[in-house]
Amino acid sequence: MKLSKRISNTKTSATIAMSMKARELMAKGKDIISLSAGEPDFDTPEYIKKAAIDAINTGNTKYTPVDGMLNLKEAIVKKFKNENNLNYSADQIIVSTGCKQSIYNLCQATLDLGDEVLIPSPYWVSYPEIVKLSDATPIFVNTTSETDFKITGKILEESITKKTRMLLLNSPSNPSGFIYNVEDLKEIGDVLKNYPDIIIASDDIYEHVIFNNKKFTNIQNVCPELYDQTVILNGVSKAYAMTGWRIGYAAGHVDIISAMKKIQSQSTSCTCSIAQSAAKAALEGGRKEISDMVKEYEIRSEFLHSELNKIEGISYKKPEGSFYAFVNVDGVINRISGINDDFELAEYLLNKAEVAVVPGTAFGSPNHIRISFATSLENLQKAVRRIKNILG
Ligand code: GLU
Repeated sequence: MKLSKRISNTKTSATIAMSMKARELMAKGKDIISLSAGEPDFDTPEYIKKAAIDAINTGNTKYTPVDGMLNLKEAIVKKFKNENNLNYSADQIIVSTGCKQSIYNLCQATLDLGDEVLIPSPYWVSYPEIVKLSDATPIFVNTTSETDFKITGKILEESITKKTRMLLLNSPSNPSGFIYNVEDLKEIGDVLKNYPDIIIASDDIYEHVIFNNKKFTNIQNVCPELYDQTVILNGVSKAYAMTGWRIGYAAGHVDIISAMKKIQSQSTSCTCSIAQSAAKAALEGGRKEISDMVKEYEIRSEFLHSELNKIEGISYKKPEGSFYAFVNVDGVINRISGINDDFELAEYLLNKAEVAVVPGTAFGSPNHIRISFATSLENLQKAVRRIKNILG
């Protein structure tokens, strides 16, 4: 079948591919423990589900405005004010089918052929592909565990060219789990304010999943002068265990948001009205459910960190947030014959230990694997036992 050049240049999402593979093996009766997808294992809180049922029962089942129901957008405006101390008006907000669609729309709305997008590596698997789908070029800015996988002002400055049009910033990071703190953001912000044409795409989807009482900061909190050039990307999936509801949102300059709206009007029309009602309830509800979930993630992270680091050839620093352990497996690859890279190790773990993880190369960092701890402690204990059995 003849397909477009665009699609032959696009990779399938590695996180989704690995999760599907795990699911297929489970359907065949294999006892796979899937640590591949970044998806909360908790159920969506009851009050959120009730809001969706009420929406169905009261007939809120029709198209909504392209950019989202006004009362949901108002709830998002309030969220930014109360949680982030940021001021937006409703026309600066768009509701999309997941944060992913907001990122996609943003790239479609602002990038052209020849534009460069700086992506700190390791990165979430979909960033480069979404950038390529908008004809722009992803430029990877490599980081190491020495800087907690974060770029510095100096590295950023050296990476900027005349063609740079966007920086993708993700904190807490998927896959590294590290957070850009106030000092990091100040340093980066001081560089970016000299380049007003560079859009800062701030993917804040893990903002609530932070451990050890650390605080989330958006770059605008430390550099308010970046307001016009920053677009915040967020959603309810991770914080409220609502991945399947597909509600994300973006906030930024009204011209950019209007352009994103135009794209949405010609692609999805709007996102699901029922899910929007649920998202409104989520944002207006209490934060207790979130903190209960985050406490659990933290316990799991502590367990994984202490147990995995006991395995010869494995090392990694404890993540500060998100629900991923981004584990250096260099020593394991070196000591086990027949395993030459992180892909082969992930395959080995799947076949021999029946544990699904995602190879680090998919995130731009070979010799690592990403382990999601968005699964029960029992599952993690079982997975660690299996990994120890085969890796010794
Ligand atoms: N963002 C999650 C992950 O990295 C969900 C899957 C996806 O869309 O990539 O696993």
